[in-house]
Amino acid sequence: MTTQIHHCKECVDLLGEYIEGTLSPERAKALEDHLSTCPPCITFVRTYRATRKLCRHALATEMPKELMTSLTSFLGKHVPGFPCTKSETAAPSLATTADSGPKKV
Ligand SMILES: [Zn+2]
Repeated sequence: MTTQIHHCKECVDLLGEYIEGTLSPERAKALEDHLSTCPPCITFVRTYRATRKLCRHALATEMPKELMTSLTSFLGKHVPGFPCTKSETAAPSLATTADSGPKKV
């Protein structure tokens, strides 16, 4: 079974279902796997969860694609490397160096 997620977009697509609890266990696992190796997506989830906290009920009944879109574009501007479309084999160490940008030569 190949259920791995290699694209952040797919991750974002699944995130709504994941949070709603409608995602199949297999896909949820794949999503979690991706999240554990993708700092930009971790940031996205944090943002998403924080937002959900604010309007929990609304999100529970309705999947706001506009919100997802705006969050994604926000992260695209503020998170270096987001979205990451490359499949990553090695675990990136960006999580602890979120504040320091990539060094340009
Ligand atoms: Zn990702």
